[in-house]
Amino acid sequence: MADIAIDLGTANTLIHVRGEGIVVNEPSVVAMERTTGKVLAVGLEAKRMLGRTPDHVVALSPMRGGVIADVDRVDLMLRHFLQRVLPRRRLQVKPRVLITIPSGITEMERRAVREGVIAAGARQVHMLSEPIASAIGAGLPVTTPKGCMVVNIGGGTTEIGVVALSGLVANISIRVAGQDLDDLIVSFIRRTHNLLVGDSTAEVVKIGIGSAYPNGAEHEMPVKGRDLVSGFPKTVYVNSLEIRDCLREPLQAITTGVRQALEITPPELASDIVDEGIVMTGGGVQLKGMGTLLAEETRLPVRIDEDPLTTVVRGAGSVLDAWNHYRDTLTH
Ligand code: ADP
Ligand code: MG
Repeated sequence: MADIAIDLGTANTLIHVRGEGIVVNEPSVVAMERTTGKVLAVGLEAKRMLGRTPDHVVALSPMRGGVIADVDRVDLMLRHFLQRVLPRRRLQVKPRVLITIPSGITEMERRAVREGVIAAGARQVHMLSEPIASAIGAGLPVTTPKGCMVVNIGGGTTEIGVVALSGLVANISIRVAGQDLDDLIVSFIRRTHNLLVGDSTAEVVKIGIGSAYPNGAEHEMPVKGRDLVSGFPKTVYVNSLEIRDCLREPLQAITTGVRQALEITPPELASDIVDEGIVMTGGGVQLKGMGTLLAEETRLPVRIDEDPLTTVVRGAGSVLDAWNHYRDTLTH
């Protein structure tokens, strides 16, 4: 049994308390004083500081590629979020935690997650692999023999999984996801417009005019940054066509991964997927045209979950509510 479920993502951390629902949904970011390491802000407040901090402040995500990059800061961030949710809920006794983990995680990375969650104040740690949590959150019948495919595009990793009979039958984890698209936009704007912009600005461009597939209309938007020649602030205009072009390669890596996952799927399950299609989750699938691109490349029906940023934690929350039904889905 577990009391709370945590989706510790590279971009966002969500916490679901049994019987209550989602109580934390914030960026996985910590802001600290550079010299002393003193924590100044965590979560949303810290993300607002990203890229606009004075020299003596650093704001960064302690997660990279879906796994813990900085143990101490993950501990600190989790502790901060847990402190916020536990006291009010008479869970002063250490909670039992169900945490979701990427399917491609190594034994050592898994141990780091377990130790991190214990250090942050948990009494017991259970683990659920992300594709299974995604599938449950998207309402798929994971405990039945019927196979289903989920593709979760997060900030740091894309997880592709085929789930049947409570287990992962096939999975591919690619370290290409939302943040890589932001990085490419930063370098594209620097290369073509001689303008230096931060990651947050790049993300705004991606969400504003980024797309994976043309939809007939192209758009343009103003972007502010620092001119690399004069050193002064400047505004340039970028358009959706050039942004789509610059995102082509990583998106291709994702669709190739999906095709590879289909190739290693047992034929019976593959035929289930042909009927039922692919379900997409994670914030990255909100890129315009992402579903169309994948449907086009695989010739399969594609459905995007209704609230893709919360699918994983909602799935883990369902496991809290129906522990016995889902107990075989847990990883050890
Ligand atoms: P993680 O599980 O790794 O924390 P999330 O599932 O929370 O990741 O998704 C975060 C990613 O989704 C970020 O890279 C963010 O830029 C991206 N994202 C969120 N909304 C959109 C959108 N409308 N269009 C494109 N990308 C988006
Ligand atoms: Mg995620």
